[in-house]
Amino acid sequence: MKKARRNRQHAKFARLHRHIEISTDFVKPRRIRTRSARYAAALAEQLGLIVRPKCCSWCRRRMRLERHHWDYDEPLIVTFLCPACHSLADAMTWGADTA
Ligand SMILES: [Zn+2]
Repeated sequence: MKKARRNRQHAKFARLHRHIEISTDFVKPRRIRTRSARYAAALAEQLGLIVRPKCCSWCRRRMRLERHHWDYDEPLIVTFLCPACHSLADAMTWGADTA
């Protein structure tokens, strides 16, 4: 039982490494990289590398939280935000892109 559990953990780490590689591979199309960045963050959370807070990092409300990527080139740098703050953060990121 224990061994099987360890193997699953190991497989997740292998997948995490692969998706980090894909998300930082600039030759790949952007939609592939963003997808891998999101998946890498989800895996990192499952592995305990990223800790989900109890409440929104900005407004401190306790509700369903979403992972916000500031930069998909850094797949494990995420901020946990409620849906309202997340849309604000997205607006900020787009603004930075066009400004
Ligand atoms: Zn919030």
